Amino acid sequence: MKEVIRGILKSNELRSTHSRSEILGLFLDSGYALSNAEIEKEISEEHDRVTVYRTLRTFVDKGIIHKVLDDSGTPRYALCSDECQDTDHNHEHIHFKCVSCGLTTCLEEIKIPQISLPKGYKANEVNILMQGVCKNCQKN
Ligand SMILES: [Zn+2]
Ligand SMILES: [Zn+2]
Ligand SMILES: [Zn+2]
Repeated sequence: MKEVIRGILKSNELRSTHSRSEILGLFLDSGYALSNAEIEKEISEEHDRVTVYRTLRTFVDKGIIHKVLDDSGTPRYALCSDECQDTDHNHEHIHFKCVSCGLTTCLEEIKIPQISLPKGYKANEVNILMQGVCKNCQKN
C-alpha cells in the first residue's frame, strides 16, 4: 500500500507529504466517492480543513481524482483511472448512488452515451448519476 501511494505521487511529480499519503490511502481503500467532510473525519487531526481542501484540489489538477456530483449537493471525489493526466480528465462513465447504503461509486465500465445538444450549447462536463440499490445491498 505504502509503495502504491508513493508510486502514484511520484509519477505525478508530487512530493510525498503525510497529508497527501493519508488522503490518497483513503481513496485507495474506500472504493467509493468521498466528500471533504468524510475525509476530514477519517484522517489524523493534525491536518486541518485547508490542508484537505488543498490536497484534493492538487489531486484533481493532477488527474488522480475526479469530482463526483450526487444529489446531496456536496461534491465528492473518486479515484481516476489511468487515462487521466493532469487537467485532462477523460471520464465517460456514470456514477451510481445506492439509496440503501448511501454510497456513490464509479461505474467505470458503463459509458455515457453520446448526447447531442441544441444549437448554441457547449458542454464542458457531463455528470450522470443513477440511483438504485448497489450490489452489496442487494445481497442482504
Ligand atoms: Zn480523471
Ligand atoms: Zn448499497
Ligand atoms: Zn467516477
